[in-house]
Amino acid sequence: YVDESRCIGCRYCAEIARSTFRMEAEFGAARVFQQSGDTADVIAEAIDCCPVDCIHAVSFNELEVLERH
Ligand code: SF4
Repeated sequence: YVDESRCIGCRYCAEIARSTFRMEAEFGAARVFQQSGDTADVIAEAIDCCPVDCIHAVSFNELEVLERH
C-alpha cells in the first residue's frame, strides 16, 4: 500500500518493482497496480528505497480499510 499523500514522486519504487508499482500521471504519486507483481525480494528492496517510508506491507483486511480512505 502506498500512502499517496506522503509520496514525493521520486519514482524509485516504480523503477525497482516495475510489475508492482507505477506512477499515476494525474497525481504524480506511486500506486500499487498489481499486488505481488514482483518477487518478495524486489518488493522489499522497493520499500527500503522509499525516501519517505510511505510504502507499507499490510494484510488484505488492512488494505481494504486503507483504500476506503
Ligand atoms: Fe513515492 Fe516512495 Fe515510490 Fe518514491 S519510492 S515514488 S516516494 S512511494
